[in-house]
Amino acid sequence: MDVCNVCGLPKDLCVCQALATEEQKITISTEKRRFGKLATMVTGLDDKTINLKDLVKRLKSKLACGGTMKNGIIELQGSHIGRVRDELIKAGFKPESIVVKEIK
Ligand SMILES: [Zn+2]
Repeated sequence: MDVCNVCGLPKDLCVCQALATEEQKITISTEKRRFGKLATMVTGLDDKTINLKDLVKRLKSKLACGGTMKNGIIELQGSHIGRVRDELIKAGFKPESIVVKEIK
């Protein structure tokens, strides 16, 4: 049986991920990349409690864009702040825990 290594409960009873999801302070921002292209960054996610691999996979398929995940930071190609925010909320993150920083 799979047991959570944070609380020791079986994974189907564990609420660590759900609690952590509610407690995140997430920033979504855009950054200029080479050749003036924009990238959307999602920072502040706790990679110990959030399954970032699944999250980046989900964002990439929903937004139909390329993306990577490194050191707990998700980087998506293109400017998708509004849609990333919507998808994070659908994934269970609270709207008030998400800060948006857009560059023009
Ligand atoms: Zn747990």
